[in-house]
Amino acid sequence: MAENMWGRVRERLEQSVGANNYRNWIAPLEFADLENGVARFIVPTNFMGNWVQRNFGDTILKQLMSDGAQVSRLEFVVPKAQASGRVAPPPANGNGRPAAPASAAPTVGNGGELPGAPLDKRFTFDNFVVGKPNELAHAAARRVAEGGPVTFNPLFLYGGVGLGKTHLMHAIAHEMTTRKPELRVLYLSAEQFMYRFVQALRDKQMMDFKHMFRSVDVLMVDDVQFIAGKDSTQEEFFHTFNALVDQNKQIIISADRAPGDIKDLEERIKSRLQCGLVVDLHPTDYELRLGVLQSKVAQNASAFPDMKIAPGVLEFLAHRITTNVRVLEGALMRLFAFGSLVGKEITLESAQDCLADVLKQSDRKVTVEEIQRKVAEHYGIRLSDMIGPKRLRSIARPRQVAMKLSKDLTTRSYPDIGKRFGGRDHSTVMHGVKKIEELIGSDHQLAEDFDLLKRALEH
Ligand code: ADP
Ligand code: MG
Repeated sequence: MAENMWGRVRERLEQSVGANNYRNWIAPLEFADLENGVARFIVPTNFMGNWVQRNFGDTILKQLMSDGAQVSRLEFVVPKAQASGRVAPPPANGNGRPAAPASAAPTVGNGGELPGAPLDKRFTFDNFVVGKPNELAHAAARRVAEGGPVTFNPLFLYGGVGLGKTHLMHAIAHEMTTRKPELRVLYLSAEQFMYRFVQALRDKQMMDFKHMFRSVDVLMVDDVQFIAGKDSTQEEFFHTFNALVDQNKQIIISADRAPGDIKDLEERIKSRLQCGLVVDLHPTDYELRLGVLQSKVAQNASAFPDMKIAPGVLEFLAHRITTNVRVLEGALMRLFAFGSLVGKEITLESAQDCLADVLKQSDRKVTVEEIQRKVAEHYGIRLSDMIGPKRLRSIARPRQVAMKLSKDLTTRSYPDIGKRFGGRDHSTVMHGVKKIEELIGSDHQLAEDFDLLKRALEH
């Protein structure tokens, strides 16, 4: 009965907190019970519980009461760590999209016997547009794909969402198997790796599992940050990794951040991952975005033969949609669909109309002031202390967090940020940013706070 109530209340919360907040913070709450005026919820992490309490606690309480519940307080509980060998259901991945179900892992690969993920035919080197932000990653991928002597092992590609990591990995796999069809190339996501591992444990097929993974010529594991914090999976990954390196087999790994920055990843794995070549895909620049758009238009020319795009439209999109290539592609496809429906040339105006929501989202820029306010609020310090001279750690640390966030989330330069922090020198800002980068790797609580703030500021 109480659960029905939560169902109803949840619906109303969606209205009052907005879809984004709802998806990130309310939907993951699991209602446990309501006793003696305390409503208890199960949350995946402490930080999430704290955040919900602080930002939505009152709203939730109010809604519960208006539904007739006898409630005066909320409590958030984190379940005890799962016994090893048992695995929680896959959480949503970092960008808020639910992770693909691990069981949907059809087998392709060579001879159909390797349990890899299917390769996307469109993700080839030919279709990959090279620009300054990705030229190094591209060159490294090309080199590995040539399949000469293994020189850097592993190749570690990292970068933000939608910048082409998966594309490059598939391209390597395509290229290698075209050159040498007999090669056993296994591509899979870290999540699938875990799923296979757990399945093998459960079915008592560990020998087969180990044998299979150790018999490939090339192993590619995508989004390796996924196994952070999953101890037994990490352990197995480490052994697989070492066994393959010992045999001089090529390994290619991707992640959303540098090895050293992945929280809850064992030190020995981090250092192993750093042993090869680590290259990052930088955020796109205007030229790259325009290049991608032009190449997509050319690729789609046969599917939309009558499509006409007025001069300046692509330039406009490249200028305005700066998030990532995936969003850019989505916008272009929408224009194509629209253009083929109305059967007219796509002009700057019609593009703006058709993409109003995407453009609005891209417009949303966080300011340094907003960052300062949010961080001050989070740490319970005064906004004036952000820009004031105090050097107490309890104030200096949040200030440095705010500096790092300003560097990450705005386009401001170090001197510019310094100016906004009470006229501090650019070297002070640089030092602060570096300090936080170090601490994120070693201080769990700080890393959690940082993630939380970043997420909250990003929408
Ligand atoms: P990631 O794995 O880094 O999140 P993806 O490789 O899935 O990103 O890329 C997202 C989309 O953007 C894909 O459709 C991919 O083809 C496209 N894309 C990314 N970078 C490029 C590029 N440099 N040239 C062409 N397409 C790209
Ligand atoms: Mg990817």
